[in-house]
Amino acid sequence: MISMKELHKSFGELDVLKGIDLDIPKGKVVVVIGPSGSGKTTLLRCLNVLEVPNKGRITLDQQTLDFTKPVPKKTITQFRSNTGMVFQNYNLFPHKTALENVIEGPVIVKKTDKETARKKAKVLLEKVGLGDKMDFYPFQLSGGQQQRVGIARALAMEPKVMLFDEPTSALDPELVGEVLKVMKDLANDGMTMVVVTHEMRFAKEAADEVIFMDGGVIVEQGTPEALFNSPKEERTKKFLRKLE
Ligand code: ADP
Repeated sequence: MISMKELHKSFGELDVLKGIDLDIPKGKVVVVIGPSGSGKTTLLRCLNVLEVPNKGRITLDQQTLDFTKPVPKKTITQFRSNTGMVFQNYNLFPHKTALENVIEGPVIVKKTDKETARKKAKVLLEKVGLGDKMDFYPFQLSGGQQQRVGIARALAMEPKVMLFDEPTSALDPELVGEVLKVMKDLANDGMTMVVVTHEMRFAKEAADEVIFMDGGVIVEQGTPEALFNSPKEERTKKFLRKLE
């Protein structure tokens, strides 16, 4: 479904991704863990080309972008429309209601007519447990509710893959569970997902594959059982020991 080959990204002199190879089969949940600064968010942002890689290739479904040559903006926009991104800080439009936030993408980007978009948005907001909050503005919603709007908004674009960038790290602890539950439901529905998170329980319970990154490379990857219970690499062991 989605793959990265020999992907490199640097910011000026700083090499952040140093050759990433990763294959994510359709319907699988991949959780990316690793120390702060190891390149997890950059990896995710390269996957939907919010950051343009310096080298390497990304394939999503049938479409391959080769970053050894300049990629036209239009191609990037089209590629990105197949991905849904959920941000740490929700990134909702503050002056729009939950429903308006969810229909924005389909109406503006996909040119869906407003009524169709509205109907679909209602279904999605119900799915994330916000059927009674559709006309609320972000400031009237808790962080967990805002993030669930963020998830519904990403889903409204009918993405082939959902990308989550530390979706619960801005939340008060008691609100984390409701967001993780929506994510688990999505995983059970067969959505392909890449999740950067510090929630090791989510990784253990929902991931098909866990990626451990450090220093801009994938140090180790495997099933949650393998990675958490019998890590092979010293750097993985050290990271996991610190979490205990
Ligand atoms: P992680 O998500 O694992 O904490 P990031 O991908 O956010 O790591 O960051 C990796 C490194 O890249 C950090 O040193 C960070 O400061 C740097 N970095 C990230 N984004 C930018 C940017 N837009 N400009 C310059 N440096 C950046």
